[in-house]
Amino acid sequence: MERNHHLEFVTGLKCVFCGAVYSTRVPYTCPACGITGTLDVQYDYAAIAKRLTRQSLAKRHEYSHWRYRELLPIRRDAVLPALQVGWTPVTATPTLARAMGLKTLYLKDDGRNPSGSLKDRASSVGVVKAREKRQRIIACASTGNAASSLAAMAASLGLRSVIFVPERALEPKVTQLLIFGATVLRVLGSYEDAFQMCQRACERWGWYNRNSAINPYLVEGKKTVGLEICEQLDWKVPDWVAVSVGDGCTIAGVWKAFHEMKTLGLTAHTPKMLGVQAAGAAPVTTAYRSGEALKPIEPHTLADSIAVGVPRNWKKAVLAVLASRGTMINVEDEEILEAMRSAGRLAGIFAEPAGATAVAGVRRAVQEGIFGGNASVLAIVTGNGLKDIRGAQSAVAKPFDIPPDGAGLEDILKERGLNRG
Ligand SMILES: *Cc1c(COP(=O)(O)O)cnc(C)c1O
Repeated sequence: MERNHHLEFVTGLKCVFCGAVYSTRVPYTCPACGITGTLDVQYDYAAIAKRLTRQSLAKRHEYSHWRYRELLPIRRDAVLPALQVGWTPVTATPTLARAMGLKTLYLKDDGRNPSGSLKDRASSVGVVKAREKRQRIIACASTGNAASSLAAMAASLGLRSVIFVPERALEPKVTQLLIFGATVLRVLGSYEDAFQMCQRACERWGWYNRNSAINPYLVEGKKTVGLEICEQLDWKVPDWVAVSVGDGCTIAGVWKAFHEMKTLGLTAHTPKMLGVQAAGAAPVTTAYRSGEALKPIEPHTLADSIAVGVPRNWKKAVLAVLASRGTMINVEDEEILEAMRSAGRLAGIFAEPAGATAVAGVRRAVQEGIFGGNASVLAIVTGNGLKDIRGAQSAVAKPFDIPPDGAGLEDILKERGLNRG
């Protein structure tokens, strides 16, 4: 096996299906297995451990996810987007924790990335790889966040982006795309239709393909959220980390991060992963529970970012949950709305529905006794609430309308106990 000397610590790409290892010259999936043969980037951890220590990290002033560049498949001389991706805050939420019957609950707010979701971690690596391969046009199919994030990162690096969105893609996310200058192709069909069309178009016109399911580098970007959690919690990992699951790339990436940190000797333990799906779009949970292959479903949930009927990375997701000795659960849309309200009111964090799904999962897990009140838990808030105003509106009441003369104001204030200082 040859080693790509430009990628200092990468030793190859391993097929998660058949186990064959390839050089980084293989563009996307396993040549033997085809599209189902997702590749996993392999590293020389012994060499990385010499460079990446608690002390060396403490001296780094790069407060973005590029601070872990030894664990990313990018060249040392890579041109990076100027936008700050990652190093999003981990916040202790004592009031929210108490309301849920927990002693310790942290939220990591990835809605604070440049385009407002965790997807920026993946897209930033995607555009760097596209540029490395001297490609000027990068494409993806997405329900919204992967797309808006790709468009933002492409704009930052001076690349062009072509985006296929399904008919139901939300207005705010489509508007982001247009603002970032993407060519937006709204496929009058499902996400699956958009995905297929994007695949074909990339083959036909030779664009760089950002789809997480086939591009092995994107999940490497997603894992940085887990790397940060270890360092931000001073190397004391929580007992449980909750992640919402759509395609399954995020949870697989987060687990890889915790596994790597332990392999490098930077942490003593790995957390258990709590994979959370919306009850109306839960084929990964079903596959996890049955131990059988994934059966596609017709998704129905207000959490559009995880409304995936044919998840591409279900296998990686299931393996991650099993390896962590965690579990998967489902939450109803009503529980997601409740989690949006409680994260907003008790922690000051505004999450889109898929972003609040992990929080809803934590509440459900406490109720079901999956973990006790003494467990330390972290939930990843994967996307910002402003991305789905309609969804947020269905979680809350309307404002009070009052005429300019203030008629009725006093009654409203009295009713809410606000009529005194
Ligand atoms: C993409 C996304 C997820 C889920 O990530 P997968 O890799 O599809 O499992 C969760 N929340 C938000 C906001 C997302 O955009």
